[in-house]
Amino acid sequence: MGGTAGEAAPGARQRFDLPGVDAFTAPYWRAAAAGRLLIRRCRAEGCGAAHHYPREFCPYCWSEDVGWEEADGRATLYTWSVVHRNDLPPFDTRVPYVAAVVELAEGPRMMTEITGCPPEALRVGMELRVAFRPEGGTGAERAEAEGETEAEEGARERGRERERGSTPEPVVPVFRPAPGRRG
Ligand SMILES: [Zn+2]
Repeated sequence: MGGTAGEAAPGARQRFDLPGVDAFTAPYWRAAAAGRLLIRRCRAEGCGAAHHYPREFCPYCWSEDVGWEEADGRATLYTWSVVHRNDLPPFDTRVPYVAAVVELAEGPRMMTEITGCPPEALRVGMELRVAFRPEGGTGAERAEAEGETEAEEGARERGRERERGSTPEPVVPVFRPAPGRRG
């Protein structure tokens, strides 16, 4: 298996952002293409811990009885850094961007990118929601689509149709401020 998602088309600049998909991580990326975020949860008695990034064994009790579970997509901001310089395509067309660690509602912390929020508005603990960014276009195209909601909605729809396909367009989970206030 693998690795083809990261290969550049002839004449295109090499990209450093696309996942290398293998047999173990394929379900994660297929779900992302369908607008679903998967985490791993241990099924060993007395453990039950969730973890991320995905591993084939539980990092808390070493059990191999671990399965995929859909995360509900809520998270809070744990820490972040505004990246002003990154020479690796396509990040060079995206700077400045916000690299972050978020704490998922299920507990695990996840490296990701925050979109749709000016850096000065970021606050530790702010509520976030997962969004799914299709990576088929160039970074420049993506940057132009700054209110990314429509693109993300489109990706979600196309992803559902294509979930059973063998080579989904790479779609990467990012996080945005939670919409509105509840209650
Ligand atoms: Zn465990």
